[in-house]
Amino acid sequence: MTLGVSSSVAVPANWQRHYDLTRFNTLGFQATAEYFCQVDSEEQLHQAIASAKQLGLSWRVLGGGSNVVLLEDLPGLTVHMHILGKRVRQQDRTILLEAGAGENWHQLVLYSLAQGWQGLENLALIPGTLGAAPVQNIGAYGVELADVLVRVRCLDSQSLRFIELENQQCRFAYRDSLFKQAEGKGFIITAVELRLQPDGQPKLGYAALNTQLAAWGIKHPTPAQVAEAVIAVRQSKLPDPAVLGNAGSFFKNPWVSAAHYQKLKESFPALVAYPDGEGYKLAAGWLIDQLGYKGMRRQGVGVHEQQALVLVHYGQGDGRQLQALAAEIRQAVWQRYQVELEQEPQILP
Ligand SMILES: Cc1cc2nc3c(=O)[nH]c(=O)nc-3n(C[C@H](O)[C@H](O)[C@H](O)COP(=O)(O)OP(=O)(O)OC[C@H]3O[C@@H](n4cnc5c(N)ncnc54)[C@H](O)[C@@H]3O)c2cc1C
Repeated sequence: MTLGVSSSVAVPANWQRHYDLTRFNTLGFQATAEYFCQVDSEEQLHQAIASAKQLGLSWRVLGGGSNVVLLEDLPGLTVHMHILGKRVRQQDRTILLEAGAGENWHQLVLYSLAQGWQGLENLALIPGTLGAAPVQNIGAYGVELADVLVRVRCLDSQSLRFIELENQQCRFAYRDSLFKQAEGKGFIITAVELRLQPDGQPKLGYAALNTQLAAWGIKHPTPAQVAEAVIAVRQSKLPDPAVLGNAGSFFKNPWVSAAHYQKLKESFPALVAYPDGEGYKLAAGWLIDQLGYKGMRRQGVGVHEQQALVLVHYGQGDGRQLQALAAEIRQAVWQRYQVELEQEPQILP
């Protein structure tokens, strides 16, 4: 909802009007921000949010735009998070690395590996910024951000004060956190502190990773070699957003009770699932693939030809087309398996 600019307050000079966001979302949808500004420091962020509030404008922040679906033009202010900088707070038996929310995630992973630090290797090549990583608790190949995160620093947009939240306070869960919930949506992450190990053992155990390392003849990989394997596997599986618009996995792997799993397994013996607590996590990609959606095209959008979990933008499409396809898939999955799929990317506005 656009609230309209209050006439008694001036719009800051560094805000741009009707700013094209095509290159600020990896799906590559064309949409404009009513107002747009980039912030390079906490002070600039504070000023931007305070001004938006004074002007009566809605606001949101964007990092790399790799986990959003732009439905239409964004009203109010869109803030691009570009707070950079890295600081080693402790270098001892563990490393405490603090970095600005605007740092590129993959570059930070490479930086930590170049120092010989272990902890981030399984999360190599995930697009986006450090500041957005806690929002969905990014995860891949058996590791989640929550495993290495110490604390985050945020601007509480309601009080306009900076606060710090420890790992436990972030309520991390599978692709979920406080920052996706009503109480945490007003927190804008400005810096993140990570705990890394100088002599840590990388976490292996994922079949695809092990196969890649075995193919290279590596039995006891270093963290950097694990990252190389992760990068190779990801490049072979996932479309590069620079070539084909996408937001990575579009749906979370759904959890079902043990009883539900048994029932499904009887009807679908090849069902791909793994134990999770008292129930099972189902492979969402398998469920969608079985319904024949792989390679399906609807106007300018579709389902990737090799990855049923990845929805793609072929060009000339828009967010509404993509959400219509996502709704169709969710409905089909529900009808066949009585399983509810939850979408990963955030819908804006
Ligand atoms: C090819 C591809 C592969 C991917 N693989 C994975 C994967 O393996 N695992 C995984 O978990 N994800 C994956 N993703 C999803 C995505 O990369 C991550 O969610 C990433 O953390 C998003 O970062 P971003 O900066 O692009 O966030 P954006 O898309 O810019 O923002 C995402 C959400 O976070 C909010 N946000 C952004 N910055 C901040 C901040 N500083 N403070 C508070 N809120 C903020 C935004 O308002 C928005 O709601 C993949 C995406 C792509 C395109």
